[in-house]
Amino acid sequence: MDLGIEGRAALVTAASRGLGRAAAEALVAEGAQVLICGRDHGSLDEAGAALRAGGTRVETVAADVTDPAVPRMLVEATVEAFGGLDIVVANAGGPPPGRALDVEDEDLQSALNANLLSSIRLVRAGVPVMGRQGWGRICCIASYSVVQPIPRLALSNTARTGLWAWVKTAAHDLAEEARGVTLNLCCPGPHATDRMRELGGVGPMGDPGDFGRVVAFLCSQPAGFVNGAALVVDGGETLAL
Ligand code: NAD
Repeated sequence: MDLGIEGRAALVTAASRGLGRAAAEALVAEGAQVLICGRDHGSLDEAGAALRAGGTRVETVAADVTDPAVPRMLVEATVEAFGGLDIVVANAGGPPPGRALDVEDEDLQSALNANLLSSIRLVRAGVPVMGRQGWGRICCIASYSVVQPIPRLALSNTARTGLWAWVKTAAHDLAEEARGVTLNLCCPGPHATDRMRELGGVGPMGDPGDFGRVVAFLCSQPAGFVNGAALVVDGGETLAL
């Protein structure tokens, strides 16, 4: 299937490793130009070099997407680099595990900043550009906890469900106000990444490369009528309807 995004300008945050990087790889494989960000110069430069082997233009910006000023800066950097912004994949590292009753205010504020507000800031910064172009695809990487909270991941569960509620509402606004621009969630179940290893995950794991290709589909031309969806990629683990 031709995803119809060759030459499109994409921004993928938190993409030096893991699922963000897999999304960037899948977009590059489809011929998109991609700007990636990550916090650490070493792994970001390594990821940039590997992605460039795909033959399309790839830019890297070292930045922490949880800084409130960074999402707008990244959108502007992508427009400056490629002359537009067609695709945004909003990703950030996940919060630490913990029991719901042990949650401290500061931890909650940090998780909400990283896994709710950073995505909202990226969408707010990107939509005006996409609206002017009449075409845009935004995919936020969340978690399968949007359909079924995961025990001892209280911070993540809280931030992701908040993001899901906001995305659903914003996608409806976009349908009325910015035809051609879509906003969806892609919700991983367990995938074999560094984070999953750090959390001590066991059992069946998805392939990050496949997850990246699902994200690329949501950012594709034929997915233009998929808006306000949460696509769960968990191998059937959750049972919620
Ligand atoms: P990961 O920790 O393996 O990789 C995250 C990447 O993002 C790293 O390159 C890291 O340097 C970068 N990063 C982290 N925080 C950043 C920030 N603030 N600014 C810029 N770059 C940053 O994580 P992953 O497994 O790829 O997961 C990606 C997201 O998906 C996370 O939010 C995670 O909680 C969520 N998730 C992952 C799984 C899974 O099984 N891997 C399952 C459910 C949800």
